[in-house]
Order: sequence, then structure tokens, then C-alpha cells
Amino acid sequence: MTLTASTAKDLNLSIQYVKGIGPRRAEALAEHGISTVRDLLYYFPFDYIDLTRVEKIINLRREIDSGKWVTAIGKVRTFDLVGRPPKQRVVVILGDETGTIPLVFFRSIHFFKKYFSVGETLAVSGKVTSFSNRPQIVHPSIDRLSGSQDSDDDGGKDEFIHTKGIMPKYGSSGQMKDVNLHVKGLRKIMKVVVDEYVDAVEDPLPAKLGNREQLIHLTKALTWIHFPDTDEELSQARRRLKFDELFAMQLLMALRRTSIKEELPGISFNVQSALARTLVDSLPFKLTRAQIKVINEITEDLRSPKPMNRLLQGDVGSGKTIVALIAMLIAIDNGYQTAFMAPTEILAEQHFRTLSNFLKDIPINIRLLIGGQRSKLRQDILEDIRRGSANIIVGTHALIQEQVEYAKLGLVVIDEQHRFGVVQRVALKEKAGGAGTEVPYPDVLVMTATPIPRTLSLTVYGDLDVSIIDELPLHRKSIKTTVGRESDHERIYKFIHDQVREGRQVYIVYPLVEESEKLDLKAATESYEMLKSEVFSDLRVGLIHGRMSVDEKDKVMGSFKTGEIDILVATTVIEVGIDVPSATVMMIEHSERFGLSQLHQLRGRVGRGAEQSHCMLVAPDWIVSRLKRKITMQSVEGEEDEKLKAVRRLKTMVETVDGFKIAEIDLQLRGPGEFFGTKQSGLPELQIANLVTDGDILTLARREAFLIIEHDPHLRLPEHQPLRRYFSEKWREALALVQVG
Ligand code: ADP
Ligand code: MG
Repeated sequence: MTLTASTAKDLNLSIQYVKGIGPRRAEALAEHGISTVRDLLYYFPFDYIDLTRVEKIINLRREIDSGKWVTAIGKVRTFDLVGRPPKQRVVVILGDETGTIPLVFFRSIHFFKKYFSVGETLAVSGKVTSFSNRPQIVHPSIDRLSGSQDSDDDGGKDEFIHTKGIMPKYGSSGQMKDVNLHVKGLRKIMKVVVDEYVDAVEDPLPAKLGNREQLIHLTKALTWIHFPDTDEELSQARRRLKFDELFAMQLLMALRRTSIKEELPGISFNVQSALARTLVDSLPFKLTRAQIKVINEITEDLRSPKPMNRLLQGDVGSGKTIVALIAMLIAIDNGYQTAFMAPTEILAEQHFRTLSNFLKDIPINIRLLIGGQRSKLRQDILEDIRRGSANIIVGTHALIQEQVEYAKLGLVVIDEQHRFGVVQRVALKEKAGGAGTEVPYPDVLVMTATPIPRTLSLTVYGDLDVSIIDELPLHRKSIKTTVGRESDHERIYKFIHDQVREGRQVYIVYPLVEESEKLDLKAATESYEMLKSEVFSDLRVGLIHGRMSVDEKDKVMGSFKTGEIDILVATTVIEVGIDVPSATVMMIEHSERFGLSQLHQLRGRVGRGAEQSHCMLVAPDWIVSRLKRKITMQSVEGEEDEKLKAVRRLKTMVETVDGFKIAEIDLQLRGPGEFFGTKQSGLPELQIANLVTDGDILTLARREAFLIIEHDPHLRLPEHQPLRRYFSEKWREALALVQVG
């Protein structure tokens, strides 16, 4: 063994061997996912106490009503319960060598009356106000610097890490507290780990990259994230660690994309297509500028011998279908089959009809493959696919089932609507080519009607190229959106009557959320009965909800499409791309309970024909009366104010129909996790970076990651070895997927 090897600190060392930890504490930490020294180094503080600006208590008088947040350190002299309910409060007298100040607690009295002990040292922060001309702090934030909570108090020896500079605060679980790992205990072991092990951390980033993006060294970043001396050090550390996190993610995207693009044989299509030309000439409208732009991007991919992997984003009604069809015709002209996959049967049928309609004068064999088809018909279709006489196959998941064999699959279009699934994408791709076969990989075009904020799309779809249709066809009348009060029902019902009399159809939507599903369903069903037998007894009213079977739903939806139903009462199941041109009214009850993107999707169900359409949002009085007031984002973020958010959502709906703008606001209001609303959204768990606020760092990280993979797709260059090692630690499983090297 060489000397270097024996002295090298191992970051994979189990934490139980770290000074001050031992088996019991190690066990408690392991419950929290912290088992190695590295894990501990990456257990970042959730907050800090800034002791660099501590004021002596005598000086706090100067801060009365200054509005500034100040910190003082002192010992608890007394604490008392004062006054009678409802004005009862806990008053703590905090003192240092210069004087005393009362700390006042009105809320959680029962908690605070037991919280303090005389003689303990506290750091308190807050704004100073005055009471009878004396300074006081109401509900300060409190940090215990000594006291009964941490029995491992060692009499001031560790003053340094506890009372100087900017002190970290760590989250502590119940198990951790049981082994005396409170804030202070954690801070202590963290100090040991940082001091002893941080130098063993290898910086995976090439030095050139670090310089270019002005990132500090990883060793420094890990030191400063735990024990910064200044704000500046803290923000440098944060920036570096956020970069790392986003960079790792983007490197994975870059690897995935390269492994598809570079490694797999694709098809180089001749894009001069007579079929496509015929179609475009036969259209009753002119393509929009945005449609032409994305068609060019797609044909460029089709021409290229590398497999296309592209996401087509466009708001509802922006005309994605025709774009996809043009691409399909190019593939067909080259002698290939194309598959078009929709998320539900009803949508598959709808696409089938739309496409057939576009193609009525063009000799193309288009087939529909869904579940529940009679076996004779099904065999017939499968045979058509196998022989290659089916040019376009539209379907659901049925398209990727085992029995389906394609003669020559060249292009796959996946309409995800608002569902996001990486899995199907991969499966359908493998239908055509696949490891070990000579068959080239088909091109893949994924379509989504949910505009996705850029940071999220780079994250979830970061391995795809993105095309955006950012313009609606001109003739489209914009939908009139209004917010009404409960007391406006009569007026709205009358309006609906008038619309139906003119041959239009109407959606009335009720909220249904998982947590209160039973109640919601009851409310929707009762309203349906009431509307059917009283308000609209002269009209044909139907009901659709999530608890119905697929067949039942399809049946109701079918009757609405063919006009046998005038008014469709629904829970949110109609969200997905249903197209009924004569539906002109979307009335949404309890609209304050819906998410913003959801409201936007629902609104997209109308305005699909030539007539003026209306979106009528019904909300409680308190919202409607606040709609006219100005709201700033600040106030929404500062206070966790759900009401304000609801106002903001409805206000946004009234102000804009731009899906991308709406998506950005929705992201700000809800955060990335909630945005997609599904668990399998493909969003990675981020520890320090934030997809709402760190868009700039994400952009840098992506650029650098793609640059590296472009020059060194297998990370074989010597200067990329640390990066490779880092990756194999962090993303073992993910790496197996992309098979680097
Ligand atoms: P999306 O799938 O993006 O929601 P569709 O492709 O269903 O949108 O298009 C919506 C409607 O607009 C369809 O009836 C389609 O024929 C029509 N359409 C598409 N492109 C144009 C255009 N450039 N001008 C006018 N109408 C168009
Ligand atoms: Mg469509």
C-alpha cells in the first residue's frame, strides 16, 4: 500500500466512524438517508442565523420601527404568562451586559410558556417595535445557543461554531433528536466532517469550465454552504452547488440524447414529398407562420440520418395535427409506415377521424387499432400492419403490444396531451428497431397541448429537441372569459339557454379532487339532477365523471359529439383534447378550486369552431370583489396566502389566453412538483436548485453539459475522468441506462 492511499480520506466511509457519531447516531441518521461521509457533507442547512450583525440590546431602542430585521444575543432573565385571555401573552425578558428587552408572544401561548428556561442563551431576530415607549420584539425567530435541549453542551468550548458568523440550521428528525442531534448537535458533527473530510472531495468540473462560469471550487463550496463567514460566501457556495445539481441532470440529458442520436441508425428521408404538397394545396386555410417554422424544423430532422426525437409544443387549437400529418406523409412517400399514438381510445378515434378527413382525396390507407375491436377486424388490421399496406396506424397503447408487428415503421407521433410518459416513448421506438437488429430507429415526434415552462421542459424533456407553435390560426375568435358570482347563476343559465337555442353546446364543470372525491361527486351528481329536472328540463342534459367505466364515458362523450346532448355536466374528465366545434360555453363551478393550467385546458375545449365562445368562471363573492384590486407576485410569495393565489389564478384567466404565460404563472404559484400534478412526471428531486427561480443557472448548466458531450460523448478524455467518477457515484442506475463508454 502506498502512503497516499493509506492517508486518503474515504468519502464513502460509514458515518458511524466519524468522531462524535457512533452506531446509535449513525442509525438515526441512516433513517434520514445519511449513511456516508459524503451524504453528510451534502446534508445542507435549510436556513442560517446571521450573527455577523448582532446588536447590543441597549442599541435596540434606535431600531424601533426602523423596519429592519435585527439580531440580539442574550440570556433569559425571566419569562411569565401575562394578562388574561384573549390578551394573554408570554413575555420573556432577555438581557445582555448592556440592558434588557421584552420578547412578546401572543400566539401558541401553551407552547411558549413551556419553551424557555431561565439562564439559557438565545439569539433572537425580528423587528423592533415600541410598547409604552419601550422597545420590544414580538414573535422573534429564536435560536437556542445553549440550554437544556442539547445536553452535550460542553461549556462554551465550541463557542466558535455556535455564536460566530453565519450559523447553519439543520433539519432534525424525531429519531435524530432522540440521540441528541438537535440543531446544535448536528452543527457540531458537521463541523467535524467539514474540517476533516472536505479536502478529500474531488471537484468533478473541468477547471476551464469553472473559470468560464465563475464557479468556486467544490471544496470551498461545501465548506461555505455549511459555515460561511459572509453572505457573499454563502451565495457563491449556493450558486456552485445549484450549478452542480442542474449540470448533472443536463449531462444525463445530453448523454441520453447523444446515445440516441449518435449510436442508433436512423432514417434519412427524402423530404421532397408529392403527398405532402398535395395535402397542403388541398387545405382550406393557409398554414400559420409558426406552423411553417416548426414544419421546417421537423423536415430538417427527417432529412437527417440521425433519429428525430422532437417535442412539439403548442397550445390547444394551434394546429399541431396538420403539422404531424405533413411529417407522416413525407415518411409514407419514402415507403415507410407511421404510427400515431393517443392517450385514450376516444382521442384515438377522434384523431383517426380528423386524419381520415384531411386525407379523403389522397390514396392513403389509414387504420385504427384500439382495444375492444372484434377479433376478425383486429386480425385484419394486424395483417395490414404486418404486410405494410397500412400507411398510418392510429391507436392507443395497443400500438405497442406484442402482437403488433410493423413491416417498416419510419415515424412515430405521440400525442401526450397533458400526460407525460417517458416509458411509452421508449417502448414504441423499440418496436421498430431495437438492439441487435439492422432495422433503423424510427423518428419520433411527441406532441403536447400543455404549454410547459421552459425550465420544466428542459428538465422533463431535456433530451428532446423542442419546437413551439406560438401562434393561433388567425380566424380563431378569442374566447371571452368572465368571472361571475354565485348570485349570477340565473343570468348565466339564461345565457346558456339562449346559446343552446342557437344550436350551440355547453359544458358545465364541477371540481373533483381526490381528497374530497366522495363529497365532490355527490355535489356534481346532485347538481346534474337539479339542472336536468328543473333549470334545463326542456334541454338534453348528460353527465360524465371519473367514476364511470371507460365504455360509459365513451358513450356519453360520443352523444355529446354527435349533438344528442346539449349540456354536458362533467367533472374534470373532459380535460383531455376533446374536439366539439359547436360547444361554445364552458361554465366552471367553484372555479377557485381549480389549478390554473387545468382551467386553461378546460377553456381550450371551447372556441374550436367559428362562433364566439365563452368561458364563465363562477367564484365566491370574496374573490370576485378582490379581482379588480392590484395584486403583486410579491404578496403571493411572501404570505402563504391560498386565497390570494386563487384570486391570482382567476385574474390570469381573464387577462390572457396565452398558454405559455399561464404556464409560467402556474409554475410560480404552485412550484414544479405540483405543476405536472402527477407522480410520474419525470421531474428529478432537486436538493438545492429551484426550477422556478434558477432558470439562469439551468441555462448555463445545460450549455456546458451539452458542450462537453458534444466533444467527448463517452467522457473518455483525461480531463473528464473526475466527472465520470462523480457520475458513477451519483447516478449509477441512470448510467446503466445510457451505457456510457
Ligand atoms: P391542436 O391539435 O394543436 O389543438 P388542431 O390541429 O386540432 O390543433 O387544430 C385545430 C383546428 O384548427 C382544426 O380544425 C384545424 O383543421 C384548424 N387549423 C389548423 N391549422 C390551421 C390554420 N393554419 N388556419 C386555420 N385553421 C387551422
Ligand atoms: Mg389536436
